[in-house]
Amino acid sequence: MLGIGTLAKKAFGTPNDRKVKATRPIVAKINALEPEFEKLSDDEIIAKTAEFKERYAKGENLDDLLPEAFANCREGARRALGLRAFDVQLMGGIFLHQGNISEMKTGEGKPLVATFPAYLNALAGRGVHVVTVNDYLAKRDADWMGKVFAHLGMTCGVVYPYQPDDEKRAAYEADVTYATNNELGFDYLRDNMKGSVEEMVQRDHFFAIVDEVDSILIDEARTPLIISGPSDDKSELYVQIDKIIPEITPEHYTKDEKQRTVTYTEDGNEFMETRLQQLGLLPEGQSLYDPESTTIVHHATQALRAHVLFLKDKDYIVRDGEVMLIDEFTGRMMKGRRLSEGLHQAIEAKEGVEIQPENVTLASVTFQNYFRLYDKLSGMTGTALTEADEFDEIYKLGVVEVPTNRPIARQDEHDQVYRTTADKYQGILESIKEAHAKGQPILVGTTSIEKSEELSDLLKTAGVPHNVLNARHHEQEANIVADAGKLGAVTIATNMAGRGTDIKLGGNVEIKLMQALDANPDANPDALRRQIEAEHAEDEQKVKDAGGLYVLGTERHESRRIDNQLRGRSGRQGDPGRSSFFLSLEDDLMRIFGSERLDSVLSKLGMKEGEAIVHPWVNKSLEKAQAKVEGRNFDIRKQLLKFDDVMNDQRKVVFAQRREIMEADDLSDVIEDMRDQVIDDIVDLYLPPKSYADQWDTEGLHEAAVDRLGLDVPVVEWAEEEGVDQEVMRERIAEASTALMAEKTEAFGAETMRNIEKQILLQTIDAKWREHLLTLEHLRSVIGFRGYAQRDPLNEYKTEAFQLFESMLNALRSDVTQQLARIRPLTEEEQAEMMRQMAEQQAAQQQALEGLELQAPAEPPAERQPGFDEADPRTWGNPGRNDPCPCGSGQKFKHCHGRLV
Ligand code: ADP
Ligand code: MG
Repeated sequence: MLGIGTLAKKAFGTPNDRKVKATRPIVAKINALEPEFEKLSDDEIIAKTAEFKERYAKGENLDDLLPEAFANCREGARRALGLRAFDVQLMGGIFLHQGNISEMKTGEGKPLVATFPAYLNALAGRGVHVVTVNDYLAKRDADWMGKVFAHLGMTCGVVYPYQPDDEKRAAYEADVTYATNNELGFDYLRDNMKGSVEEMVQRDHFFAIVDEVDSILIDEARTPLIISGPSDDKSELYVQIDKIIPEITPEHYTKDEKQRTVTYTEDGNEFMETRLQQLGLLPEGQSLYDPESTTIVHHATQALRAHVLFLKDKDYIVRDGEVMLIDEFTGRMMKGRRLSEGLHQAIEAKEGVEIQPENVTLASVTFQNYFRLYDKLSGMTGTALTEADEFDEIYKLGVVEVPTNRPIARQDEHDQVYRTTADKYQGILESIKEAHAKGQPILVGTTSIEKSEELSDLLKTAGVPHNVLNARHHEQEANIVADAGKLGAVTIATNMAGRGTDIKLGGNVEIKLMQALDANPDANPDALRRQIEAEHAEDEQKVKDAGGLYVLGTERHESRRIDNQLRGRSGRQGDPGRSSFFLSLEDDLMRIFGSERLDSVLSKLGMKEGEAIVHPWVNKSLEKAQAKVEGRNFDIRKQLLKFDDVMNDQRKVVFAQRREIMEADDLSDVIEDMRDQVIDDIVDLYLPPKSYADQWDTEGLHEAAVDRLGLDVPVVEWAEEEGVDQEVMRERIAEASTALMAEKTEAFGAETMRNIEKQILLQTIDAKWREHLLTLEHLRSVIGFRGYAQRDPLNEYKTEAFQLFESMLNALRSDVTQQLARIRPLTEEEQAEMMRQMAEQQAAQQQALEGLELQAPAEPPAERQPGFDEADPRTWGNPGRNDPCPCGSGQKFKHCHGRLV
């Protein structure tokens, strides 16, 4: 009997069915247009693009243009690539245009799918970004799909690391731009560190189509991209704070051995407050609980940690004037490893050795926040449904499961569960041998490089020839994975390896053809192709007869999605195939359940030593456990995102302001407002509102006017005049200040003055923002430390971050006003001296920029790989900044192609 739910689904369809159904009429329209577009000449196809652009400009919207644009794109692609897009591919393209995630299985041709919405949206003239997970795929897809865009009369560009800025700018100017998430993020950050709009490379964040969207927006979502550089020298601060710590007594702090944390008690706080004030490190009257104290509290805490948690000769040793950490497990020295956030410096201060500069964040953004910049976002992947809630909640992205072009024929077997890892490996080996004997190609998925290597050893001993992939060399691995469907192939791969490459049964015709042409350059390519195609058809049939690709998982991942990715490598386009996961009670995931309980259940189900148990109950329970872990991970990501958001909102404000300033010709209004505000502030401070003249601190006001406004005005005398109140004082100071600035403008010439204003404003914003970023980092690390009884750390963080932002703006106003009040035209000698200093500064800045480090999610260092080309930076992978430049110039990479400016 059917359940009510199933009955309802039969009658009304699932929500997904309804979405799919809703696009059918659009697909029908595109199909109906096909004959008309088939008749167009190549030039007429290009002319169509111009026509659509014009119609868009005249107010027709993209939804209305969609059927014709898709029909044109289908025809362009058919001519460019010889592929006629399937109806389900059009459907996937429609969902992307609507700002959804199209879940389309491996082998459904997602790169082609993306061309449809990319073409349509590029008609708006603001550029479309297609995002891939690695540089190899960006280049591959731009080359491949670039042909389609060329046929349509659109430009297509690709962005890659260390590409010169003018080429980058050109790539971003193109109608459609292919790039990795890393490079997009770094370009965004670098752009916002530049001094003028002309130097920026990105133009707009209009529409992004993210391939393998789950990897980027979920797995890597929280990995921040960081640009870092050395901070100002703070050695003195470390040394001074360090001197106080030996006076600390056990009542002053509490220590949690397990979590390795220390916090000051109330007593400790009071003590530190007094001592820091005595040393002049904390202004009189400022409490350690004030947001302005964030940085000092952070350093005070690090100093305490250095003394209480880090023991010499246990946690670290001092050798040759350097503090070297010791690995707690192996007892070995960890050369070159440094603790972050000033902790290493605190230990250096404690040991009285030289304090090395701290590397600090100059700019950072998470992928989550980068991709939320786009007006419209969309994505594609084989596996999104399990994370639909997260996509919806965080990115407002719907997930639509697009039907496959052909029904899936792959057999997904139940898990095989063994008692021990050794038993499991034995089982895996048997299964591989059995399938291999039939010639069935096998893809073995592992969770780590180490495990891949263990398995490889096992296979070597058993005499089974195989390939191992570790996601190290994208291009080379793509070629190996393309061969993973050949008769008798055995391939071991981590889940990242060979991503984005389709595994075709019997191997890849194009690759075979390329290899044959390499071996025999004089052969007739057409004849060779026919011959290879014929051989391939035979190979393909043999593999199909052997059961297609066998995917063997050696462990289940925490998330079902990653398991599904692995399974999905088999059974593309209706191919036969099978998938099976081998597990043991010793796997990490199994421990989450508590293996004892599992052990007893499995014994009841009849599990025996050395034998696998296969039972649907196991699969169901495992999936439940995975769903639980997925949920927990989502909660963690959500919580962290809320912290990120605070800084993200501020970053958006600062970047927008920066841009406005760079674009403006005349900032004198802004500058005047700032000056007025500064005048208000000092008058209010020394002549408090509602106070009488005899309560005024006119001496103080005079000093402040000299210092902050460059004005030596007789405020003391003014205050003695009859009828002079705060307002009159304020006005007189403002008048004098305006006159002074007008004099300066006169002396410099208005244009120069406007320029000076702009440069000072920009430089000061940058300096303040960097300081503020560091303070926020510190705030984050101390927020839990303050004894907030029952208060929510996130709320505290938000409030304080806001206050810090406000005080940053105050300091900005005051600094800019002060600097401008002090400028004056120079004598000739002074000018010469200044030129010299400027040249020096520029050199120093150049050096500083070269010292910047880019930190992306770690990729293993690239070795020279096949396909490496000295002349083509795109083939270089990620060279170390201090390594010799791969171009062969003999210079360090950072001074050659790796130069940042
Ligand atoms: P995905 O990223 O969805 O896994 P790939 O593009 O990697 O897809 O693989 C799909 C394969 O199918 C490619 O080899 C591509 O050439 C081919 N393909 C894509 N679309 C079509 C089509 N409409 N007709 C025939 N072959 C197609
Ligand atoms: Mg793909």
